[in-house]
Amino acid sequence: MLEKMEEFKAEKVIDEFEELTKDAGRVQRETLKKILEDNASAEYLQKQGLNGRTDPESYEACVPLVTHPDLEPYIKRIVDGDTSPVLTGKPIKTMSLSSGTTQGKQKYVPFNDELLETTLQIYRTSFAFRNREFPVRNGMALQFIYGSKQFKTEGGLFAGTATTNVFSSSQFKTTMKAIESPCCSPDEVIFGPYFRQSLYCHLLCGLIHHNEIQLVSSTFAHSIVYAFRTFEQVWEQLCADIRDGVLTKDVTVPSIRAVMSKLLKPNPELAERIYKKCSGLSNWYGVIPALFPNVKYVYGIMTGSMEPYLKKLRHYAGDLPLLSADYGSSEGWIGANINPKLPPELATYAVLPNIGYFEFIPLRGSAEEDRQDKIQSSFESKPVGLTEVKIGEEYEIIVTNFAGLYRYRLGDVVKIAGFHNMTPKLQFVCRRNLLLTINIDKNTEKDLQLAVEAAAEVLAPEKVEVVDFTSQVDKLTDPGHYVIFWEISGEVSDEVSSECCNCLDRSFVDAGYISSRKVNTIGPLELRLVRRGTFQKILDHYLGIGGVLSQYKTPRCVNPNNSMVLQILCSNVVKSHFSTAFG
Ligand code: AMP
Repeated sequence: MLEKMEEFKAEKVIDEFEELTKDAGRVQRETLKKILEDNASAEYLQKQGLNGRTDPESYEACVPLVTHPDLEPYIKRIVDGDTSPVLTGKPIKTMSLSSGTTQGKQKYVPFNDELLETTLQIYRTSFAFRNREFPVRNGMALQFIYGSKQFKTEGGLFAGTATTNVFSSSQFKTTMKAIESPCCSPDEVIFGPYFRQSLYCHLLCGLIHHNEIQLVSSTFAHSIVYAFRTFEQVWEQLCADIRDGVLTKDVTVPSIRAVMSKLLKPNPELAERIYKKCSGLSNWYGVIPALFPNVKYVYGIMTGSMEPYLKKLRHYAGDLPLLSADYGSSEGWIGANINPKLPPELATYAVLPNIGYFEFIPLRGSAEEDRQDKIQSSFESKPVGLTEVKIGEEYEIIVTNFAGLYRYRLGDVVKIAGFHNMTPKLQFVCRRNLLLTINIDKNTEKDLQLAVEAAAEVLAPEKVEVVDFTSQVDKLTDPGHYVIFWEISGEVSDEVSSECCNCLDRSFVDAGYISSRKVNTIGPLELRLVRRGTFQKILDHYLGIGGVLSQYKTPRCVNPNNSMVLQILCSNVVKSHFSTAFG
């Protein structure tokens, strides 16, 4: 049906969204009913004793909350080729393989046509709203997207990362065309086996089509920053390729060479223009609009673990607006950004009530401490429905989707920023399980990010920035202490880096941390500066184990079992400081 779609009717999409959200409660009940009826024959659901009931109350009473490990035995059977209705009525034929960057371990999650359709519904919805504010027309997108290899599991199922499963569908292309965002790079580039070669050719395709590029995007904003950091290194080579019409020898994949040779014609004028533009920039400020004069905005997920890259992204984007993309996961999409004018730090995601059934575990009490306790606590409040959430409160989100996940804890914490009609607008807060904790202290990914932001200010006068960061709890020392790893963009004196270390220590404002530090039941925070390129090595490690750049998120807290990443970090330390902030 989508393939036949020729014209995109934004007003129709918006009207449909308004209808759905005005009656979000009813739509949720109907969605749950549909999911349970479509999958009534699934062994997993049969076991739960629903006996045909599809109402939210029976569902909550019969079906347990689960995490991925609870479902692994079922998923494994499907991966191994069991075609009986295990989790879904219709057999699952494709699996998404998560990168494992957030949890340190790769995992399979079922993927099917319904999940693809909900992804595209999200894309269409946010585009309809975005295009009212920032219209693009008859253009192309410079999209830094990368498909991983799709392979067959032993049981004969297709498996690839979720983004690969989406990018490789014909519906994705049709939808991207319909929403005026077709990728300027050919498939051979998107699905090339080496991401560095693909990235180089994405840049080259963008430059060849420079006048047609109307938006620069990626799934997660990190990929855009990464692309322009690479551009700083390879721009002269790119100019040479354009001047001579010959692709650098560094791109070796025959299919990419073949397709690029059709696009690349000697164009000394363009090469000269790019060269001049680049030479005239000050520290690459505004490189995106300088290269692509008709670009309207930069687009990608910019919240959560992407926030630390915003500063650099703003630098590259100059005065172009940064628009955060939508909210979802390999397990399914959740909400669309329908207020694109909000700066990324304030971006919210309106839940589409027909793409899944959503529940929310309340986390926030009256005090911040209470929230921290609840994030960590094993005692849990009862989940509430989509339309019962309260503005200002924080929740852990539970997903039931069309691909065999029932009451699945995604592990994300969201805050309710408001409502659009009856559906909540979510602000992403953090991953629930990423915690620095030694005794009574509890610091989340967000707390770490804020501490790093504060300490990075100490570097600003030196014109040095934090390229990337992660952390670890070191309990081998007595008392245990936090270790923060920083890669920074230049050299700084010991005085400056030790002040950064103190500032980090002071910036964790959690009461448990401060009191433990005061009495030394948590030792002085340690800042370890690592060699330039260390985080590139971590990225390479994840790509080596099957991850894909499109979905990459730097792990912000490294688990002690993650020995490979720890080894990369520890073997690249150039200097370290212990905080003296608490005397
Ligand atoms: P993946 O496992 O690669 O599909 O990543 C999914 C995870 O990425 C989600 O569970 C979130 O933690 C994070 N994520 C996805 N969308 C957003 C967003 N808009 N803002 C912040 N984090 C997001």
